[in-house]
Amino acid sequence: MPTETFEFQVEARQLLQMMIHSIYSNKDVFLRELISNASDALDKLRLEALRDSELREDVSDLHIRLDLDKELRTLTVRDNGIGMSHDEVVQLIGTIANSGTAKFLKELKEAQGSTASEELIGQFGVGFYSSFMVADEVTLLTRRAGESQGTRWSSDGEGTYSVETIDEAPQGTSVTLRLKPEDTEDQLFDYTSSWKVREIVKRYSDFITWPIRMVSETAGKSGTTGEDADDAEDGAEAPAEAEVETVNSMKALWARSRDEVTDDEYHELYKHISHDWTDPLEIIRMQAEGTFEYQALLFIPSRAAQDLFSQGHKRGVQLYVKRVFIMDDCEALMPEYLRFVKGVVDAQDLSLNVSREILQQDRQIQLMHRRLVKKVLSTVKDMMSGNPDRYLTLWKEFGRVIKEGLLSDYENRDSILGISSFASTQDEERLTTLKEYVERMKEGQQHIFYMTGESRTAIESSPHMEAFQAKGFEVLLLTDPVDEVWVQSVPEFDGKQLQSIAKGEVDLDTDEDKKEVEAERERQRQDYADLLTWMTSELSEDVKEVRLSSRLTVSPACIVGDTNELSPALANMYRAMGQEVPDVKRILELNPTHPLVSGLRKAHSTGETGTGLGEAAELLYGMALLADGGELSDPSRFIKLMADRLERTL
Ligand code: ADP
Repeated sequence: MPTETFEFQVEARQLLQMMIHSIYSNKDVFLRELISNASDALDKLRLEALRDSELREDVSDLHIRLDLDKELRTLTVRDNGIGMSHDEVVQLIGTIANSGTAKFLKELKEAQGSTASEELIGQFGVGFYSSFMVADEVTLLTRRAGESQGTRWSSDGEGTYSVETIDEAPQGTSVTLRLKPEDTEDQLFDYTSSWKVREIVKRYSDFITWPIRMVSETAGKSGTTGEDADDAEDGAEAPAEAEVETVNSMKALWARSRDEVTDDEYHELYKHISHDWTDPLEIIRMQAEGTFEYQALLFIPSRAAQDLFSQGHKRGVQLYVKRVFIMDDCEALMPEYLRFVKGVVDAQDLSLNVSREILQQDRQIQLMHRRLVKKVLSTVKDMMSGNPDRYLTLWKEFGRVIKEGLLSDYENRDSILGISSFASTQDEERLTTLKEYVERMKEGQQHIFYMTGESRTAIESSPHMEAFQAKGFEVLLLTDPVDEVWVQSVPEFDGKQLQSIAKGEVDLDTDEDKKEVEAERERQRQDYADLLTWMTSELSEDVKEVRLSSRLTVSPACIVGDTNELSPALANMYRAMGQEVPDVKRILELNPTHPLVSGLRKAHSTGETGTGLGEAAELLYGMALLADGGELSDPSRFIKLMADRLERTL
């Protein structure tokens, strides 16, 4: 078979360059990555053999094996798992499928200094490619289970790789690293030392549920017969009579008691599951005894994954049955809005053959789902009081996702509201909870006021804010896109209604001045009645009503929506998703104390109804629209009218 040469995809090449020039200081982790891949491959083969009785592969002794060669300076990680086909090798190893890659690489380029880059790499995780931190040539030999021919892939990481079809190949995959020449500084990083390698496996991969075997160094080239020495099909080239030992304990961390396991061990399991290189923020353990027994070990990451918001993002909870891996991304166990939670759930009483479809309907699983969700939410609640800084990190990273639950998880709505934090006019620096807001509410205040918008500044400078600020009412500033949506379906918190300050009529007057204010309003309504009727008909194409405002103190006018109407931002969101949304006309409110508005009234009452007055009304509407972040239907006309006016003032 001829050898084909391929070029790495651009992103892949860039990543490889970074690996070769090793911006990551802890090089040991390459072994964790290779073992993690091997372990996944064994899981996959075991499952496939279970489902496909025709598959003729030996699954009686699935394991990982490490072979070290001091003379050749090579390290080989071998598994007898699922393997890869020729096309899979090209697909999986030659390209990077992750959609976040381009963004990641850009950030990496902009990152200053090595710590920043290291942190970014940590967020991304580069799997197989991390071999190039320690090797100047990597060869991968693999055969897909069920196929007869194998594939050899080889590269020095510098732009191209070669692929060759091989007639005879052992089951599974072996990855051989030709280690970079030792330099004096790197004495500690001798990956052909079995002592060193054993230490790394212990540290990073001890919990792997498959045996990781290695020929011990002390056994030398002659000695007693090892258990694997005659495993020719394995392709093992271990010295004929060396001692083979299993280096990992294979103990499932979730089945061990808390005090037996160190945080570091938990963290390594997390990294294996999540492909994240950073330690998790929080570890959650659960044990359920009784008729339906299960253990759960869940993790809250310390950073949001690059693709958390892209379609096809996987949920991170794996299902095990009696210590045996069953599936990744078990959607029956975690709701969409907790998709950032990673971990393992190990159930005792499920069949090993269980499918996704069955899981979705299984009552026990539904029960488990409920308890897991409650546990995650209560953990977050405990973080709020127990470790506010950590909670804030979590909220900053995942708050936007958690709030999606306000739309989908009716049962836990109150808990979700309880762990949510919001920006507020009260304090620029600190976020506030709804509970704190309610405690600060003014006497007689009935509602929790909020406004949605693009940014804090946009909301704060909106005319809607004026009266609230003038009278000292606190307003929540909701700037996440999801806020537009959930506020529509959450009516209240703690008996207090949520009220948008950009919608409906507002009433901010205290009981004492109510009478006086009402009288004043009534006077204004009479004074302005004619103007309002005239303007309503003049602007009837754009607004459904022109009325007086009680929310303005500085601006002449503003646009408001009806209480139950879609906000313009939400309407745009629906349109962007391809849904038809009818155009809704909104309401123009005028500030009767503003000279521009009172001047307009005077002009109108003196019978001046020519084009000048109509244009003034149009301009007023345009300004209100712009202040609301809206778009003018005819900007050039607006500018011309404005320029004419300005000209006359000169
Ligand atoms: P990741 O493991 O994060 O997906 P890698 O670059 O480490 O990224 O590996 C890419 C893919 O190559 C894996 O998802 C897997 O499908 C395949 N792969 C890697 N190593 C093995 C292996 N030992 N056996 C079978 N498939 C493998």
